[in-house]
Amino acid sequence: TILLGIESSCDDTAASIVKNGVVLSNIIANQKVHKFFGGVVPELAARAHQQNIIPVVDTAIKKAGIQKEDLSAIAFTCGPGLLGSLLVGTSFAKGLSIALNIPIIEVNHLQAHVLVHFIKQNEIDNHKPPQFPFLCLLVSGGNSQIILVKSINEMRVIGQTIDDAAGEAFDKCAKLMGFSYPGGPIIDSLAKEGNPDTFQLSKPSLPGYNYSFSGLKTSFLYLLRNQLKKNPFFVEENKADLSASLQTTIIDILMNKLYKASIDLDIKEVALAGGVSANSGLRKAFEEFAKKHNWKIHIPSIAFTTDNAAMVAISGYFKYLDKAFCQIEIVPFAKKTI
Ligand code: ATP
Ligand code: FE
Repeated sequence: TILLGIESSCDDTAASIVKNGVVLSNIIANQKVHKFFGGVVPELAARAHQQNIIPVVDTAIKKAGIQKEDLSAIAFTCGPGLLGSLLVGTSFAKGLSIALNIPIIEVNHLQAHVLVHFIKQNEIDNHKPPQFPFLCLLVSGGNSQIILVKSINEMRVIGQTIDDAAGEAFDKCAKLMGFSYPGGPIIDSLAKEGNPDTFQLSKPSLPGYNYSFSGLKTSFLYLLRNQLKKNPFFVEENKADLSASLQTTIIDILMNKLYKASIDLDIKEVALAGGVSANSGLRKAFEEFAKKHNWKIHIPSIAFTTDNAAMVAISGYFKYLDKAFCQIEIVPFAKKTI
C-alpha cells in the first residue's frame, strides 16, 4: 500500500510518500514570506501553497522512487487550520484522485501530530510505538493539549489551553524581545546559555488539566517594560537569562498538568508531539520525568515535530486499512477539534 500525504494547514506545504507505514520521502517547503510580518499572514500562506504544491508533490514522488500511478490513495489534512491554506491541499488531493481514479482520505491535523509515533522512518526502524492507552502532550503553534489516546482512532482531549498555545507563548514573548518569527527555536538556543532562575514569571493556577499562557505573557511584558525604563539595553544584556527563565516556566506549566494527569489516570506511557516538542528543554524534562516517575516516554525525531506530511500519510495509512475513505464533496474545517 503506497500513500501520498499532503499537509497544507498553516504555512508549510508538505508532501510525503509512505509505503506500508515506512516513509519513502518527506518533503517540506517552508514559507519565508511570513518572517517579514512577524507571524503567518493567511492570504499569503494560501498563495504560497498554490505555488509550492505541485513541485513539492512531484519531488516527494520522485524522491520515493515511485510513479504516481503506483499510489493506492491520497491522504490530506482536512483541518483544523487556516481555511485558505487547507483548501489548496484539499482541492489538489481531490483533483489528483480523480485523475488517478484512487480514493482520498481526510486526516485531522492534531491526530496526525500524535500519530508521528507510529511512523517507521526506514525499513530497519524497529522502535516500539506507544502502547495504548497513552497520554500525549501535544504542544504546537496553535494548540496545547493533553490527549488520552485509547487507540489509533480513539483520542480524547482531557485538557487544553484556554487562551494561548505554548508555541504562541514562545513566539509572542520572542517578539516582545525583538526576535524574528518563529521565536521558539531562537529562545531554545539562547536558553542554553542562560540561568533559568534569574527572573520569576507568573504561573497560572487552573483546576483540572487545562492550560493558560496569557498571564505568563503579560508578566513577561511587564518585566520587560519596567526594566527597559531603567536600562534601554536590558533585553540585549539579558536575553539568555530571559530566554532560560521563560522556557523553564513554560516547561514547568506543561509538565505539571501532564504529571497530574498521569497520576490521576494511572498511565505511565507518555508521548510528546507538535512543534514545541522540538524544544531541547522540554525533551530533557521528559527524560527526567521518565527516570524519576518511571514513565515510558516517546519523543519524536526533530523532523516529525513541526508540520510535516509523513504524519498525514501514516494517519491515512491506518484509515486505508479500515477502508475509511471520504467523499469528494468533503470541505475543510478551521475549528480546533480532534
Ligand atoms: P497547529 O499544529 O496547532 O496547527 P502549527 O502547525 O503552526 O500549529 P507546528 O508547526 O506544529 O505548529 O509548531 C510550530 C510552533 O513550534 C511555533 O510556535 C514554534 O515557535 C514552535 N517551536 C518550534 N521549534 C521550537 C523549539 N525548539 N522550542 C520552542 N518552540 C519551538
Ligand atoms: Fe501543526
